[in-house]
Amino acid sequence: MSRTLTPEQIDVSQRLILNAENIVVTTHKHPDGDAIGSALAMHHFLKSIGKNPKTILPDPAPDFLHWVTEYGYCIIAEEKPELTEDTIKSADLIFSLDYNSLSRTGDFVSKLLQQSTAPFILIDHHQQPGEYPVVCYSDTSACSTCEMVYRFIEQCGWRGHLNLDIATCIYLGIMTDSGSFRYHTVSADTHRIAGELISAGLDHAEIHRSVYDTNLMDKLKLIGFALSEKLVVLPDHSTAFISLTQEELQRYNYRQGDTEGLVNQALSIRGIKMAAFFREGNNEIKISFRSKGTFDVNSFSRMHWQGGGHINAAGGLSNENMNSTLEKFRELVSQFSNQIVAS
Ligand code: 5GP
Ligand code: MN
Repeated sequence: MSRTLTPEQIDVSQRLILNAENIVVTTHKHPDGDAIGSALAMHHFLKSIGKNPKTILPDPAPDFLHWVTEYGYCIIAEEKPELTEDTIKSADLIFSLDYNSLSRTGDFVSKLLQQSTAPFILIDHHQQPGEYPVVCYSDTSACSTCEMVYRFIEQCGWRGHLNLDIATCIYLGIMTDSGSFRYHTVSADTHRIAGELISAGLDHAEIHRSVYDTNLMDKLKLIGFALSEKLVVLPDHSTAFISLTQEELQRYNYRQGDTEGLVNQALSIRGIKMAAFFREGNNEIKISFRSKGTFDVNSFSRMHWQGGGHINAAGGLSNENMNSTLEKFRELVSQFSNQIVAS
């Protein structure tokens, strides 16, 4: 894990990129701001040096990210499976951005990626990156993959190719993954990079507005309902959680991304050190975990919820129904209570 690439990583990356003809950029399923930002920043950068990259998303991003330049040119794997297959089969270099293991791209894309003989360059800030990349640029202390993409371009000697499209994408991922520059993972280098992007002419206030000030009424009402009716606080365990069933989501015309950040509202309560949000999907319950102190939700999710992420922000899954899932969660919280309360 390092902020800087080794001289060998730089050399190999430069050679792979310059010699490749069919570069494919990939990111994780349910892409967020950092996933879209890092994938499209790399896409725009590769174009700026004369390449013709193809960017594959396992599934679409939420509406509030569709404004990003060339989002419309991404290949959405679940909508175009044949094109996705052909594109991955003809790849001679593949970027893994904002994910640490191929399984994070979902069943369909990960199977195609596993079959590929192309070398991989991984740029990511999640814990425990897989063994598969030829270049593994992993920095779990980074606030975002986007910040690492900037450093990757810079350290490979291509800083001069920075343009407004690349800058916008990088700022988008830094802003969304750092909670608008508020988490511990934000470093002096994060601010240096943001400063350089703004010096390059970036309209940072416009990016903030495009992401955070484009809510539909239904979304706000759903959040209002979740906070007033579905928030459960367990003061003895310094824990709070929210759950939403499919019926409740449908009542407010749920659209992907509408509940993003909701878990942070639960975490914001005074005295709360761990928070969870459970969202019922068609076949499974998707869970978000957040913590404020030393309680490691990455390990908690890895051990008990088929997931992972970072120490203070992780995701996971449950294949049981909502009641059993919440019961299991309450039991585990009692079990880990001492650690959570002391964190
Ligand atoms: P979120 O709660 O916003 O969906 O995810 C929080 C963090 O955990 C993100 O960094 C995300 O990449 C990671 N994460 C979310 N879901 C999963 C999952 O199912 N498996 C793993 N390994 N990480 C996840
Ligand atoms: Mn990220």
